[in-house]
Amino acid sequence: MTEVNLFETVKRHVCACALDLKLSSNIEAVLKMPMQELHVSIPIRMDDGAVRVFQGYRIQYNDARGPTKGGIRFHPDVTVEEVRALAALMTWKCALYRLPLGGAKGGVICNPKELSAGELERLSRSFVQKIAHFIGPDRDISAPDVGTNAQTMSWMMDEYSKVMGKTSFGVITGKPLSIGGSEGREDATARGGWYVIGEAAKDLGIPLKGATVAIQGFGKVGENAAVLAHPLSESRVIAVSDSGGGVLNRDGLDIQKLSEHKKKTGSIKNSGLGADITNKQLLGLDVDILIPAALENAISMDNADTVKARLIAEFGNGPITAEADNHLNAKGIPIIPDLLCNAGGVIVSYFEMVQNLNMDHWGRDVVHSRLNMHMTETYHTVFEMATSNNISLRRAAYSHAMEHMVEAMKIRGWI
Ligand code: GLU
Repeated sequence: MTEVNLFETVKRHVCACALDLKLSSNIEAVLKMPMQELHVSIPIRMDDGAVRVFQGYRIQYNDARGPTKGGIRFHPDVTVEEVRALAALMTWKCALYRLPLGGAKGGVICNPKELSAGELERLSRSFVQKIAHFIGPDRDISAPDVGTNAQTMSWMMDEYSKVMGKTSFGVITGKPLSIGGSEGREDATARGGWYVIGEAAKDLGIPLKGATVAIQGFGKVGENAAVLAHPLSESRVIAVSDSGGGVLNRDGLDIQKLSEHKKKTGSIKNSGLGADITNKQLLGLDVDILIPAALENAISMDNADTVKARLIAEFGNGPITAEADNHLNAKGIPIIPDLLCNAGGVIVSYFEMVQNLNMDHWGRDVVHSRLNMHMTETYHTVFEMATSNNISLRRAAYSHAMEHMVEAMKIRGWI
């Protein structure tokens, strides 16, 4: 298996676009470096009385366009380079959609599946205590990511509020509705992705009704992608996988039953709803739409050759390595890049911030229609840029985001 570093991948895309945009080497240098990083050690008393020290990071990549924004990941494979790359991706994502926000990311090296609820709460609270003076509602706002959820966010918001001596909803998004959360945040990433697929399918001449879909990942994003596939596009999910393997049913999977099975057993294995397949087999299925919705580097030069999908929609961050991206472009498989495709989460996070600031509450329909408007408009801008310059959607999305970044840095006198 080839080891690929996501930060190197991101920097390669930045270099290529810097060339297209004829950016000076000074500007390129600023875009390729994070603004500031906080590395913390977090000692936690485990349930058995032992003390374990966890490693955590919060990285603020660039705040030229506003306070930094980005999730916190709890996963055993977290590395500082990964968090840095994800912080850079958040920066481009917010810039692409012209949100008044910069980009950041946090991560703690831990396996939340192996921690008790008490251990998880102590870890979430201690991490926030350590970074409290580095973050804030008008400085750096967190949110859920892989391995964290509305409960984790609630503990974190509560701990931050204790440190600051006042309830501070605005420091975190992705909160439950009872403490300042927004309608529609839970499935926002997947919903936004489907809105973009809807537009792309029209442009690419792929009829969505009855289209076959394979989804890699059955976490928050992957599961919601599967649940929303039929209601939003009338397509048919025939395969799904998670870290333990996958399931294939060419007549279409019963997603509700699969979710129930996962809730009961903790995985999608042995559901009896279709044939067992491996993750690798799922990525090579002959489907209309392939949705990588798990961790980065899922498609690399080790397996890019096997990909047969008509369209790839990146619901996860960084699922395709730079070499594999070139390879798939050469094969003529269109890819809707992460920046464009999975921004629904941060867009509804931004809606949550706006509602918190105004002490307001928007209905679900308002959230959905505003999300649709953002996703559709930006998709069309990127698509036009890609077709008129004969470049990939990824190249167009990066270039457009970088233009917005450079505009802000110039006007602020940074460069
Ligand atoms: N973790 C999500 C992402 O990667 C959401 C970030 C946010 O809402 O701030 O886009």
